[in-house]
Amino acid sequence: MKIDIWAATVQASLGDPIGAPVRSPLLDAKVMIVDDESAMTELIRAYLQDEGYTNFVATNDPHQTLDLLRREDPSVLLLDLTMPHLSGFKVLEAIRTERALRYTPVIVLSDSTSADVKLRALRLGATDFLSKPVDPSELVLRVRNTLAFRQYHTRLANFDAVTGLPTQTLFDRGIDEMVERRDLVGGLVAYFSISVPACRALRESVDQVTADGLARELARRLDRIASVENRATAIATGTDRAPRVARLDADRFGLVLEGQTDADSLEKLAKQLVLALSDPVVIDLHEVGPTVWIGIAMSPGDGPNAAALRKSADLASTHACQQGIAPYMFASPELNAKTLQRMTLGSQLRGAVQRGELRAHYQPKVDIRSNRIIGAEALVRWQHPELGMLPPGKFISLAEELGLIGSIGQWIMECACLDAANWARAGLGELKVAINVAKPQFLSGDLCATLDRVMRESGLRPRQLVIELTESMLMDDVQLSRGLMSDLKALGVALSIDDFGTGYSSLSYLKSFPLDELKIDQSFVVDLPGESADVAIVRTIVDLGHRLDMSVIAEGVETERQLACLKLLGCDHYQGYHFSKPMPNDRFAALLRHENERHGWAVSLTSKET
Ligand code: C2E
Ligand code: MG
Ligand code: MG
Repeated sequence: MKIDIWAATVQASLGDPIGAPVRSPLLDAKVMIVDDESAMTELIRAYLQDEGYTNFVATNDPHQTLDLLRREDPSVLLLDLTMPHLSGFKVLEAIRTERALRYTPVIVLSDSTSADVKLRALRLGATDFLSKPVDPSELVLRVRNTLAFRQYHTRLANFDAVTGLPTQTLFDRGIDEMVERRDLVGGLVAYFSISVPACRALRESVDQVTADGLARELARRLDRIASVENRATAIATGTDRAPRVARLDADRFGLVLEGQTDADSLEKLAKQLVLALSDPVVIDLHEVGPTVWIGIAMSPGDGPNAAALRKSADLASTHACQQGIAPYMFASPELNAKTLQRMTLGSQLRGAVQRGELRAHYQPKVDIRSNRIIGAEALVRWQHPELGMLPPGKFISLAEELGLIGSIGQWIMECACLDAANWARAGLGELKVAINVAKPQFLSGDLCATLDRVMRESGLRPRQLVIELTESMLMDDVQLSRGLMSDLKALGVALSIDDFGTGYSSLSYLKSFPLDELKIDQSFVVDLPGESADVAIVRTIVDLGHRLDMSVIAEGVETERQLACLKLLGCDHYQGYHFSKPMPNDRFAALLRHENERHGWAVSLTSKET
């Protein structure tokens, strides 16, 4: 049976966790006994069993010693020196000349009291000496001390003294096992090489103690991300095991994940790591905001074993550092192309508002019965200098990620409020304009103040403004959302739930949220009237909305048949390509004018009345 080398080494090295029954992990060590007299092997075994040892390998044939050692890899060998066919000295000599066995602890047993014998054995590499007849307490003491010494060495070799994290040797051994396992069960192993140059810089510019302090703090953060409590990381990233971490050298950490995961999840984790590790920390009055460069290599594509994966991941993190565009990079060029594209777009998006590259388009909201335009939804676009007009799907989530959604949201808010106020001033009617608000904006705490200021500056009446929220942004903290929505309502604006039916679909909140409108998601409209389930859903949403005193609008209406069905089902308003695609302000104003003239509609409110 294959054991998990990582878990076993950590367990053997650290012992039982505090609070668990105290059984020394040393007692689980494998003890090998070689003595030509079976009575002696049995006696030693019995003495050690009395002490609690359970794991033995024994032979009375010294010729088998090397084979058994190679196969069983015991933690300690008790070797009789005087055996008839092959002396213990010869066996000891052979052990010490074989590379893989050279460091096995060997306690030699002899009935000779001669100092020469003892010295010769020690010179040949015996770890300790035990006289026959064996005294049980002496036997137990020698075995325990030898095992404890070996354990200490194992710990030194496998764990970093500053952070307590596994070193590269142990990390790589564990990864080789993972790769083997994944060859059998499928999935991949992802190796993150995390470079933090600040560790070295602190050591050179301040001192070792401060550098160690930073390393310890980084290890703590890494550990937290990878800890059992944080198994959510493993689940969220689609892996079936929590990630494991290591200190690879003075300024480099490692993290490994295995399981059924994909590049998107790994990218998500990389972002999480960058955020967590670069958060500023104060160590002995020095504030450090460490820059982090991460390289990600995946088996089998980027290497068949730990050493190859590490090389690929190290190289990727060096590239990330040299290019300075993205804090993380994949070893695979194909995956990088996507990341780099996104990062480049992100850096261009930073200046897009100032450079005047954003555009507001308006899509009419239409009354189903009268076919009259009653409002418009403002939808942002980015006029990219090289890529042309980009829809929000290409940059809104990026803006949220980079913390740019606040300025973009404010821009569209100012634009929409001013344009809608101008429609009224131009005699085109007091239309309602809807803006989409992103979750960070909604939760920012200054949305109300900003809206209030923008409405005052533009001259837009609060009753002309609709804020579109989505279910998912409201459900994390229902109480907080309710409070924020009440604040918005107090301004006099209307609230709409966008993409209704695709979110958490917990209906109980609907009655307690101060909502004015439900927007039926396009996915329920697209197959109308053919799909009877969709007909039932739309009918139910319309009924629900009306009973709760809300108006109901359908989005994504593309055909006459869909429209006719929605009309039959009692939907109030609609929006979609069937009436019009979103368009720039001048074209929207022209459409309004044309519609008003065509139908001879009088305009309800003009600037004179406001
Ligand atoms: P949304 O708020 O649900 O907007 C409706 C989307 O459906 C718009 O896509 C619109 O162009 C599209 N659409 C309208 N009628 C039809 C139709 O008949 N058929 C089809 N297939 N699509 C139709 P768009 O403009 O690409 O916007 C996508 C999403 O981006 C919006 O979904 C909204 O969630 C978000 N978004 C747009 N502008 C903003 C903004 O200023 N701020 C924020 N935070 N999000 C925005
Ligand atoms: Mg919307
Ligand atoms: Mg929508």
